Amino acid sequence: MFDISIKMIKITRKPIIAANLTAKDRMNRKDIVDIEQKYGLKASKLLGQNFLINGDVIQRIIDSLCLTPDSRVLEIGPGLGALTGEIALRSGSLTAVEIDSGFASFLRERFAGNGNVTLIHGDFLKTDLPDSFDIIVSNLPYYCASEIIFRIAGRYSCRHCYFMVQKELAERMVSKPGHKNYGALTLNMKLYFDARILFNIGSSSFYPRPDVNSSFIKLERVEEFLSKGEKEMFHILVKSLFWGRRKKLSRALTDSPHADFSRERVDEILFLSGIDGNLRGEMLGFDDLCAMVRAATKV
Ligand code: SAM
Repeated sequence: MFDISIKMIKITRKPIIAANLTAKDRMNRKDIVDIEQKYGLKASKLLGQNFLINGDVIQRIIDSLCLTPDSRVLEIGPGLGALTGEIALRSGSLTAVEIDSGFASFLRERFAGNGNVTLIHGDFLKTDLPDSFDIIVSNLPYYCASEIIFRIAGRYSCRHCYFMVQKELAERMVSKPGHKNYGALTLNMKLYFDARILFNIGSSSFYPRPDVNSSFIKLERVEEFLSKGEKEMFHILVKSLFWGRRKKLSRALTDSPHADFSRERVDEILFLSGIDGNLRGEMLGFDDLCAMVRAATKV
């Protein structure tokens, strides 16, 4: 059985840089089943509860975060704490938001008396926290992964975010123009973050085992340079480009159900931004789109 008392003693108020994880620090499938039985908990598919059980993957995640004793970390969905204890050990403070009341109670007990951990029982999508984190990390619940990422993009200025996401979602985030994965999500992400896949993880590293593979990604904040009005135009143009991704750009914009552009206005936008209207929307890069935004907000 996973030894909760050892964990509580090891996590001290003053963070230390700990040595590599040992087998004792990791939860395996049996530990999780034991905890579920003892506390009457049950992993819910609806809440995306797939727990990390591969110690090597946990170690790689912890190493990637480059934590220091000054780090102020937010963890979304700590679950049974596969990452939480390790993060608390290596950082100055950790705030963890967990939607499941059973897991939140278990964690509260596990981290009782631990001064640098703040546990919040709640839905991250409905919780307002101060914008005071250096690092945000989560093995994200896949049912609302993009929603959580865009909430962070809109509300928090944190420069470094690390997420476990479904592999397909990661591939859409880092895709290039013309690729089948390239789309509105790729471009919307670029408004806020530089996305990078750090490594991929097979489904056997989780319990219960999910039906999909995963990727661990790093999102690095980029300077926002579009005004509020330009951002609105950016979203209109992105939706218009991809509602008919196989159409020629001039036709996709003129016929777009998301915009009210006359043929003349479309011609002028394309002329001012120096973009060929015969291209397909899916061939346009982020810089092309920004040029169109500037042209569209002028004409
Ligand atoms: N961090 C743990 C791990 O790696 O083993 C659990 C990760 S599990 C994939 C996702 C966690 O997010 C679950 O504990 C789930 O209850 C929690 N969760 C789901 N939706 C949430 C939400 N809207 N706000 C906060 N936590 C949420």
